[in-house]
Amino acid sequence: MKRLAVIASLVAAVIAAGWFALTAPPVEAWLFRTIAFRETARPQPVLAGNDELAVLFCGTGSPLPDKARGGPCTMIAAGDGLYLVDAGIDSARNLMLWRVPLEKVQGVLVTHFHSDHIGELGEIRLQTWVAGRNRPLAVYGPPGVDQVVGGFNQAYALDASYRTKHHGADMLPPDAVAMVPHAVQPGVILDDRGLKITAFKVRHEPANPAYGYRFDYKGRSIVVSGDTAPDDAVVRAATQADLLVHEGLSPEMVGVMGDALQAAGHPRQAKIFHDIPPYHTAPVDAAKEANRAHVRLLVFTHLIPMLPNGFAEDLFLRGVSDVRPSGVELAHDGLVIRLPAGSEQINAITLP
Ligand SMILES: [Zn+2]
Ligand SMILES: [Zn+2]
Repeated sequence: MKRLAVIASLVAAVIAAGWFALTAPPVEAWLFRTIAFRETARPQPVLAGNDELAVLFCGTGSPLPDKARGGPCTMIAAGDGLYLVDAGIDSARNLMLWRVPLEKVQGVLVTHFHSDHIGELGEIRLQTWVAGRNRPLAVYGPPGVDQVVGGFNQAYALDASYRTKHHGADMLPPDAVAMVPHAVQPGVILDDRGLKITAFKVRHEPANPAYGYRFDYKGRSIVVSGDTAPDDAVVRAATQADLLVHEGLSPEMVGVMGDALQAAGHPRQAKIFHDIPPYHTAPVDAAKEANRAHVRLLVFTHLIPMLPNGFAEDLFLRGVSDVRPSGVELAHDGLVIRLPAGSEQINAITLP
């Protein structure tokens, strides 16, 4: 017994000494320094400068709060440039956490002006400038984009002035910070160095007009539906595309949530859930459209409702495999899909 007691007290002493060593200020400082240097040296994801068209899902959620998914944001990389389709809440934070080179953002394309699609425009304006963007940021969108962009420019003007005073105009030039609105009509809105971007009108009344965007680069193509009810315009725009990035709402799941809210005594929220399905697209209908358009891969984003686990994902996709047995994915924040030029490849990775 005595020997056991000695061993126990020796073990306790070793643990205490180890704990003391790890929590002693010099060791904590050394640990922090080691981790800070290692994390800061972590390479940025190479999303531009490749001979490819690629998409990074920077927010795959909707207005419904979801810790796992940011608000709507889809980044397209083509050649040297990065383009953002929408800038929902948390999209700037996601992009910064992944160390995306934000100074390479050439433009933002807003699909429509529901708040979930524009909530972080101010932060995108700021963070691309802080990252080194040295000319104004073009923001394309339907008529009305002047009002939205003008408001963000005004709201963030004081912030920008403080930062220029603090860090100097050489680093943060005041003439580069602004966003410049470009109200565009359906059709080709940009044709530059092999990248063609085409806007098309979709059905999302009363948010009208609302757009989707098609990107063509060196024979590869990605179409982003924006928010829309089922619409032949999406089929036409997505014809023969490599990727159709489509919004999706499960009427069955949203219906259950509405019933649950009503039963719990929240009629206001229940009415909202009752109102939203008609101006979105059920996954089965999106799959039918993808088939008609002969799209190679259909990727769902702007997922309604939130899908916290595999069971919910399966329910969301119920019936889709009957219509379209393969070529369907659910996007998640951090998913990158690359389409190398001059190939048929579709390669997916997830940013850490
Ligand atoms: Zn919307
Ligand atoms: Zn939306």
